Amino acid sequence: MSDYLFPPSPPASVAVAGSTQRFPVRRIYCAGQNYVAHALEMGGDPSKQELFFFDKPADAVVADGARLPMPPATDHLSPEIELAVAIGEGGSGSAIAKETALAHVFGYAAAFDLTRRDMQARLKKMGVAYDLAKAFDRSCPVGAIRPAAEIGHPRKGRIWLAVNGEVRQDSNIDDLIYDVPTIIAGLSAMVELKPGDLILTGTPAGVSRVVKGDRVEGGIEGVGTVTITVL
Ligand code: MN
Repeated sequence: MSDYLFPPSPPASVAVAGSTQRFPVRRIYCAGQNYVAHALEMGGDPSKQELFFFDKPADAVVADGARLPMPPATDHLSPEIELAVAIGEGGSGSAIAKETALAHVFGYAAAFDLTRRDMQARLKKMGVAYDLAKAFDRSCPVGAIRPAAEIGHPRKGRIWLAVNGEVRQDSNIDDLIYDVPTIIAGLSAMVELKPGDLILTGTPAGVSRVVKGDRVEGGIEGVGTVTITVL
C-alpha cells in the first residue's frame, strides 16, 4: 500500500521513432529568442542576446497528430516550431562542458512551443513573469524522438512550419545563435539536468497566429515532423 493520498499522475512521455519504448518526460526547458530574425521580430537585440530559458510543465506534452482545443485566455495562439533535444544522461555544472555536452543527448524531435502571444505581450509590458503565456495545458506538442544513435547530432537542416499548407516559418537550424552544445552546457550551469529532460532550442522568424480549424505542421530536415489541429 502506498502512502499517497490519491494516485499520482502517470508520467508524461513521448514516442520514440521505430520503437515501442517511450521517453518519460521529467522537465521541459525552452530557450528564448535564439534565432537572429526572430529576436528582431520580438523586439530584442540579437547583438546582446543572452542565452535565457523559461520552462513548461512535463504534462504539457502532447502527441504528434493531436487535435487540441483552442487554449483559454487568448485571442492570439502562436505555434513556434523548434528543435527539441531529449536528454538521456544527466549532469550539472562543470560536469557538462560544451565539448562533451552532446554525449548527454538521447535524441532529437520536432516540437511546437505553443504561446499565448497576447498574454505574453501584456505581461512583458507590465514587467512581470510571463510563464503562463508559455506554460499552459497542452502547450508542448512533440513529434517522435529520433535517437542520436541513428541520426547523429544535426547541426544544419531546414526548419519550417506551415498552416493549412501555407509555409510561414522557413529557416535552418544552423542559424541558431546558441548551438545545442552551448545550450546544454549553459542550462546545466543553472540547473541539474536529468534523463527525461527536454530542451526546446528556440524558433526562427515568421511566428504567426492560428485560429480554430487550422492544421499546423512543422518539421526539421533529418529529424522529423510534428502536426496538430486546433479545434
Ligand atoms: Mn519558443
